[in-house]
Order: sequence, then structure tokens, then C-alpha cells
Amino acid sequence: MHNDPIREVVRRYWGYDALRPLQHEAMSAAIAGEDALVVMPTGGGKSLCYQAPALLADKPTVVVSPLIALMKDQVDALRARDIPAAFLNSSLTIDDRRRVAGGIQDGTYKLIFVAPERFASEVFWNLLASGGIGAFAIDEAHCISHWGHDFRGDYRRLDQLKARFPNASVHAFTATATPRVRGDIIEQLHLRDPRVLVGDFFRPNLTYRAIKRSRGFDDVVEAVKARRDRAGIVYCIRRRDVDELTAWLRSDAGLRVEGYHAGMSDDARTRVQDAFAAGECDVIVATVAFGMGIDRSDIRFVIHAALPQSLEHYQQETGRAGRDGAPAECILFHSGSDFGLWKSIITKEASENTDDQLAMLGEMYTFATGMSCRHRTLVTYFGQEWTRESCDACDVCTGDVAVMPDSTTIAQKIMSAVYRTGERFGAAYISEVLVGSFTERVEARGHNELPTFGVMRDYPKKHISAWIDQLTGQSLLEREGEYRILKITRKGWQVLRSEEEAKLIEPATSATTKKPKNRAATVRERNKTREQLEATTAGSNKAPARLPEGPLSLDDQELFEKLREVRREIADEMNVPAFVVFSDKTLRALARAKPKSEEEMLTVKGIGPSKLAAFGEQFLKAIA
Ligand code: ADP
Ligand code: MG
Ligand code: ZN
Repeated sequence: MHNDPIREVVRRYWGYDALRPLQHEAMSAAIAGEDALVVMPTGGGKSLCYQAPALLADKPTVVVSPLIALMKDQVDALRARDIPAAFLNSSLTIDDRRRVAGGIQDGTYKLIFVAPERFASEVFWNLLASGGIGAFAIDEAHCISHWGHDFRGDYRRLDQLKARFPNASVHAFTATATPRVRGDIIEQLHLRDPRVLVGDFFRPNLTYRAIKRSRGFDDVVEAVKARRDRAGIVYCIRRRDVDELTAWLRSDAGLRVEGYHAGMSDDARTRVQDAFAAGECDVIVATVAFGMGIDRSDIRFVIHAALPQSLEHYQQETGRAGRDGAPAECILFHSGSDFGLWKSIITKEASENTDDQLAMLGEMYTFATGMSCRHRTLVTYFGQEWTRESCDACDVCTGDVAVMPDSTTIAQKIMSAVYRTGERFGAAYISEVLVGSFTERVEARGHNELPTFGVMRDYPKKHISAWIDQLTGQSLLEREGEYRILKITRKGWQVLRSEEEAKLIEPATSATTKKPKNRAATVRERNKTREQLEATTAGSNKAPARLPEGPLSLDDQELFEKLREVRREIADEMNVPAFVVFSDKTLRALARAKPKSEEEMLTVKGIGPSKLAAFGEQFLKAIA
């Protein structure tokens, strides 16, 4: 392969001796002028796939990217390698813009980076046409799809590329395309007979764990402290969570922690990003805004303090861990209230793809609360086949989940109902039989006479369907055909005969059983108020067995949330972090004890005379 021009260019300009998986295929397609869709995990090396071929082409390549902040860096890096490149976006002065436009007309550049909103201008289209363009590389191509996690309206303008530049090839790149998004990209860009290249999403050096968060951020703080001196990212939903957690972690002098979110100034964010890259800071607490373009390969843990809003987000965020190939941990803390929070955020935003976003949120929640191998779920979600028996790198496969003690019995009850009704029905019907509903269809078939009829009348139907999901996730049951008829697998029979045990976890909320693709259900769910939703979720908020404290009751949980609000108000007023007022632990103790007087309040752990004097009254009022 000595005369391979691709390897030659990569070696000469970048100094890389080897190519990563799929890079050669992607570059060959580009050089042959074929359209292509390249799906590679974050860090897989997508940039090289459009940069190197551009050097071998006689006409320039236009790179469309939404990451304006990174364009300048990319162009500087290329220029440092003696590659003529430029960028056009809103950050340029008029003079600079004119200069770049002149360069485009003259054919000076090999690579031209542009922001998608440029395509709104007819002048810009004409400018490109005047210089002649050989190829378009669409980076972060999922932005064109509603089904991606980062839809951007400006990307839709790219649907004119093929019509206006029929001789230019178009190459789309993304890290997060599910099969649905993939189809969308191909369709919207009108790719012609594209080469579709999908990389390997299995990251065996990452271990995945999902844990129900039962003690506010205490769990998260503990997890970070246990990973001292290691580089990590902690993801939160809201800015104020970032501020709160950062302050909390910083109270431990041994931890070098910085917060990062979109509300900070550009300067402050750059400073944090640089400190992290330089190893002067170990832990970044961030909203989703952090990470596009961080170049640190030794991140040892990614902790989600709360549920992310989609599996796309989750995959991309956890994908930042362990890029050096050494072991790294991904820990997902979640609770039903996160689901409620996202739901209200998404519903409030009311964009044109609200329903899609809610469906993606549902899938994320099913992942967190389910009992299917986490690696397998992620890999298959991204359209890759899963052939391994076990991953040996997730809590489900290693048996590290808080399993219900009566799992096997419950599994046997469910499976015998499946068996006794002749393996001819879906989950909804089986649940009816198990809870003992005298519905017309049950009676018509005489299934109310079965010994399994009503054996699970103490459980809500939703729990039963959540468990059925878990049983299919573990391949004890399987679904067949259009009607999703349940059948017992060979492994399932072993459980039924008590030769093997089943593992089931407490279903989290009503949301667990929500079928993401069922629009009607999505809309019905949306019509519930957030309070209703949180009330239903809080009730089953059981702590995993290994935690010392028991769960709060439904009412206590509500009170706890109320007390957190009171704490937030006081902290805001005094301009101090929330934990200075009271820790979550103390608030929980308060919610349990419900003191009626200052004396009673003093008996609660974590409350001394000075705090009592400072905040006692406001909390007593809230409790009353
Ligand atoms: P992506 O866009 O797929 O997330 P990047 O294009 O930003 O990934 O590449 C990630 C890192 O990998 C960069 O630092 C890049 O220089 C490096 N890289 C890419 N290809 C190679 C290669 N063949 N050999 C060594 N390093 C590479
Ligand atoms: Mg990239
Ligand atoms: Zn697994």
C-alpha cells in the first residue's frame, strides 16, 4: 500500500501512520466522488475523513458545521499544517468576510468552513457557484433531522445542495444516527446511492451502571468523592444544579472542580475548558453544553447526576470517557422526577417536534429503569447488530443491580399466564389475566377460570407490563409478529422450572411502561400536570437495597421537595450555595420528623442552635 495517496497525504500532513476503522473507506468514497453517510462514534476521527480527501481534489470542499466556536481552531490547525483553509460565519468582521469571499472566488482554499445559516443568503450561494465547489462535507449531520438530538432548522436549507450543485458530491458525518435519523439524513440531503458506513459503537472499556437516585445529590457527591484524583465529567439538567453541585464538591478542598454551562461568559467557559484540557482541573460539572470538541482522552468517569433527555445525548456524553482505551466508568443517577422535569421543559418549549422529543425521553427512561444489557441497548439503538452473550461491563450483566427478592416468583407467575393462555397474546392481555380483570375478552375465552387468573391482583397493571419488558430484555420472553405475541424462550422455561433465577427490579413509574412510539399515549401523558406526574413517580421511589436509609414515603417526598424550594429561596436571598443552609440529608430528616416547634427541630440531626436561629422559622412554616 505504499503508493496509496490517502495514506501518503495523511502521513505527510498529519503524521499519522495508521488510519482508524472506516477512515479509509470514507475517504475513498469521497475521492471517487460518491455520496456518503459516515456514522462514527465521537472521537472516531471524522474530521480527517473530509480534510484529507480535500487535499487530493482539484476543487474546494465546503464543510458545514454548527460549531462556530470550533471553526477558527480547526482552520488554524489546518493552516499550521500548510493547508489553505478559511471559515465564514457571523463572528467575522465585514473586512474579513470580504477577504474570504475573494479567496473563494479565486479558488484559494482547499477547505471552506461555513455555518449552516449562510445558506439563507442567495449572495452566498452565488459566491460558492462562482468559485466552483467539488464536494460538501456536512458535519454533525443529525442536526438536519427531527429525530436527532440537536435539530437545527438552518440545516434544512441543505436540501437544495444537490439541485444547485449537481456535480458536487455530498458527504454527511455524524456520531449519533439511529436508523431513523440515518434515513432522514439521506432523504433530506437527497444523497444519490450513498455509501453508508457505520462504525463500531461497542466500547468495551466503558462500564455502565444505572442507579435510582434516592437521596438528592448526596449520592452524586459521594460518587465523585470516591473517584478522587481522576478526571471526570458530571452532567446535570439545569444551570442551577451545576452551581449547587460545584459548590458542594468544592467544599472538599481535595477536589479540583469547575462548573460549566451556557449561562457563563465565553471567556469563563474557555478558561474552564482549557484548565480541564491542561489537567489543572479534575472534574467538570456541566450541562449538556460541555463536551463538543474537548480533547482529553483520559476521562475516567462520566457521571450523570440526573437522567439525560435522550439515548443520543447519553451515548455522546458517556462516549467522552476512556477515549484512551483504558477502563472508564459511566454512572447514571436518575429518578422519576428527572423524567417529569424534562417532560415539562420539553412541553413548555413546544417546538414542532415535541412528540418526538418525548418519545426519545421515554426511551432514555426505559434504558435507565430497565433490565437489559446497557451496552447491547446502546449498540442496537444505533443500528448495529449485537452478537455477544453478555458484555461483562454493565450492572445488568454483572448482576450488580438491586434485584427484588421475589423476582423469580413474579417471573414464574407472568410466564405461566403466558403459557396457560396458549402463547397467543400480548402484554396487555396477559396483564389483564394476571390482575384478574373480568373483561369481556377474558371471560369470552374462559381465562377467568385459569389458576393464574388474578394471582397478581396486588400489583398495578403497569408494573406487570414493566416486568414483561424486563423479561423480554433478558430474553426469557420474546415477542412475535405484528401483535407482539409473547412466547416463552428456552431460557424462560428454565426459570419456569426453577432451574434458573430471574432478575427483576422495582418498576419506577408510570413512565416505565410507556411505549415511546405510541403518540396517543404520549399526548395523554403530556396532558397530566407535572405535579401529578411527580406524585406518581415519587411514590415508588424506593432506595436500592444497599443504601442505609429507607425511602421517603410519598408525602414525605413531597415535603422534601417543598423544603428544597424553601432552601433554594433562602440560599438565593443570602447569595450562598444551597448546602450552606442545609444538606439534602438534613432536609430528608426534616421531612421525616416533621417537627412542630423549635425544640423538636433541634432534635433533628444536622440542625444546631445557630442554624435553628437563622432558618428555623421558615422551615417550620413550610412543614406546617
Ligand atoms: P470526531 O469528529 O469523529 O469526534 P475528530 O475528527 O475530532 O473526531 O478526531 C478525534 C481525534 O482523533 C483528533 O485528535 C484527531 O486528530 C485524532 N485522529 C483522527 N484520526 C486519527 C488517526 N488516523 N490516527 C491518529 N489520530 C487520529
Ligand atoms: Mg467531529
Ligand atoms: Zn451488559
